[in-house]
Amino acid sequence: MKLSVNATMWSLRAGMVFTVDGPPMPGGTLRVRGERLAQVSPYSSDSPTYDFPHMAILPGLVNAHTHLEFSHLDVPLGQPGMGFTDWIRTVLSHRRTESVPKSEAIAAGVQESLRHGVTAVGEIASPPYEIDTLSRGSLEATVFGELIGWSRERFAESMQAWEPFRDQDAQEESWQFGLSPHAPYSVSLENTLTAVEKHRKCMPYAMHLAESAEEMRFLETASGPFRALLEELGIWRENLFSGGRTPLDYLSVLARADRFLCIHGNFLSEEEIDFLSQHREKAGVVFCPRTHAYFEHLRHPLPELLRAHVPVALGTDSRASNPDLNLLAEIDLVVRSFPQVSPQTVLEMGTRTGAQLLGREGQMGNLAPRKLANFTVIRWPESPSKDAHEAIFQDGLPEVVATVIRGKPVFDVEGLFSDG
Ligand SMILES: [Zn+2]
Repeated sequence: MKLSVNATMWSLRAGMVFTVDGPPMPGGTLRVRGERLAQVSPYSSDSPTYDFPHMAILPGLVNAHTHLEFSHLDVPLGQPGMGFTDWIRTVLSHRRTESVPKSEAIAAGVQESLRHGVTAVGEIASPPYEIDTLSRGSLEATVFGELIGWSRERFAESMQAWEPFRDQDAQEESWQFGLSPHAPYSVSLENTLTAVEKHRKCMPYAMHLAESAEEMRFLETASGPFRALLEELGIWRENLFSGGRTPLDYLSVLARADRFLCIHGNFLSEEEIDFLSQHREKAGVVFCPRTHAYFEHLRHPLPELLRAHVPVALGTDSRASNPDLNLLAEIDLVVRSFPQVSPQTVLEMGTRTGAQLLGREGQMGNLAPRKLANFTVIRWPESPSKDAHEAIFQDGLPEVVATVIRGKPVFDVEGLFSDG
């Protein structure tokens, strides 16, 4: 039997099922009806449609920050540890000379995401953007239209590009639209405010913030490598900006929106973490661990954010600063770098918190009745260690064997679902 979204009801038992809501279930069973989960239960002796004793099931992984347009790159741009503004120069020159069509790169990114068990992404889109490329791949997405501009004119042009996407009628169920004022060095605080004021209801916002030491210096003093870059690009004008700012100024503007994501937050201060904590019902941080490591930034304030109950999700960022789009590798790096954070918490960051920050917690992020049947099947060790969460990584990075979205296998390397 070849499964389709129309298949009425089927069930799957696995060696271990991680719902993320409660303790892992050895021999847990999922019952799927159409696109949704009908039941999630501990071991039962009923014979299921599929029985995978050597596999574990995770909720579909959520990669909360990507730029899929760079997914065709074999290796990241530049070199590890390079200055952030030099890396941006490399990205700009790559954009000028790139011959691979953007839609091809995005399609490659969608397929790679599915191979790594990712079922939803927070995608930053630069115009022109073809949403069809994303939705054809079945990947769930929150697509954030990128906004840039120091001048009012440039910014208005940038907003204009997303006009067709903001029409709610045009949106499919599998994706929703948001806006992303790019970063404090590419869009002014005033223009960021305009963007938020215009669409603050319902639309999620995402902004790269507190990402690099160069950005912090620019905000504070209006000088340094970012000032030099803006001068080089012919954007800098006298009185454009005189410094004296911090990421908190941007967070305060973003907090006017119904929901907002601080992307990276590598250099957030105690005061900013406090602010995010006060707004945690609608705000959160997306930590991109391997991209953070690529730039050799100082230690990420992840433990402080978690202590303040700020939701923290995980992202790969793009292949321009990361060798691949494997979210399990991000989870693994956090588990290894922050021994004080439990593997269970890190798995939640890569699933439920990601869904929450993308505004999709009602539909996905955990395995529970009525949620979408979005899940990831990984190889489960022969003799798993006692702590099931630790067992996920006991033999190194787990192998993703299948990815299911809305009850439909969208990646199935061993043909697990081809007979039932
Ligand atoms: Zn980014």
